[in-house]
Amino acid sequence: KSRPVFSSMCCVNNVRRKWKEFEKSLGYAEEGLPSLGGDPDWASYTLGVFICLSCSGIHRNIPQVSKVKSIRLDAWDEAQVEFMACHGNDASRAKFESKVPSFYYRPTLSDCQLLREQWIRAKYERQEFIYPEKQEPYSAGYREGFLWKRGRDNGQFLSRKFVLTEREGALKYFNRNDAKEPKAVMKIEHLNATFQPAKIGHPHGLQVTYLKDNSTRNIFIYHEDGKEIVDWFNALRAARFHYLQVAFPGASDADLVPKLSRNYLKEGYMEKTGPKQTEGFRKRWFTMDDRRLMYFKDPLDAFARGEVFIGSKESGYTVLRGLPPSTQGHHWPHGITIVTPDRKFLFACETESDQREWVAAFQKAVDRPMLPQEYAVEAHFKHKP
Ligand SMILES: [Zn+2]
Repeated sequence: KSRPVFSSMCCVNNVRRKWKEFEKSLGYAEEGLPSLGGDPDWASYTLGVFICLSCSGIHRNIPQVSKVKSIRLDAWDEAQVEFMACHGNDASRAKFESKVPSFYYRPTLSDCQLLREQWIRAKYERQEFIYPEKQEPYSAGYREGFLWKRGRDNGQFLSRKFVLTEREGALKYFNRNDAKEPKAVMKIEHLNATFQPAKIGHPHGLQVTYLKDNSTRNIFIYHEDGKEIVDWFNALRAARFHYLQVAFPGASDADLVPKLSRNYLKEGYMEKTGPKQTEGFRKRWFTMDDRRLMYFKDPLDAFARGEVFIGSKESGYTVLRGLPPSTQGHHWPHGITIVTPDRKFLFACETESDQREWVAAFQKAVDRPMLPQEYAVEAHFKHKP
């Protein structure tokens, strides 16, 4: 199984040296973050980079640019070994990632296939980070085009015109091509975009959320072309970046980049009861987005039935496993109680592992001290009926 692949002895030491460097810089394997438990035993012998198993599958899809071999299992000739030895991941990054815009999303191993594949295509196939003029689709500050948008009432996807303008700080969409007034104006200030292929049922499915009257609204969109939807995603991040640079002039790029888009801390079904805690528990879809716990009747609802703000322990928020002893009416056995300064929220999970994951997600929010602007968000929640 482990027969030596780098057959030429004179080259083996070169490659070993490269390999050692690579292991040190595994943090920058293809996706930009550690290949957690990933197998780094692969290499592109046309690009001269060591890659993990997951990325090797993507490289195989672009054979005109990248040819992949297993380091342990395939045969290598001397010229290929030499090529690996004088290239390697650091050199590749210096070339192919020399001009990645700071707002551009660098996927990690936990991201969806689409984001990882488009990153690799953008980098090697289209060479967008060598030639900045190729970045126009997401860095021009303006973008318009048609996307498939899920209808609110019947769940059918319909083609809609979308316009993103950085100058107006808004993303709009129109129900008719010749319509003067947009159907919705989504402020960049409060907008988030996150890929949700499983929930939306399309490998390119993107969930966009925004605030309307302080409540969260969802839209679900996709484009058949993977490059197009990822360009939209990065155009939205670019617009957020621009907005935040103006809003927080002293902040560094490193401060702003984590705020451009958020993945949810956790999503899934739980049962909940109402404020009196006498009515029966109902199964609802929950989304934990930063400090907002939202619940929906259906995972693809346009707006949340309710939202709970989860503050910090210093502000009187606590998460407990289990339910108060007198609690009745839940079908699922694994309870969670969230204590806020105003009331208790009771939930029930179907499995113990669900309960553990939800408690961990809530605890994360409770353990993190609140930022000044989060007190304002909390205040909005308190004034809700
Ligand atoms: Zn990888």
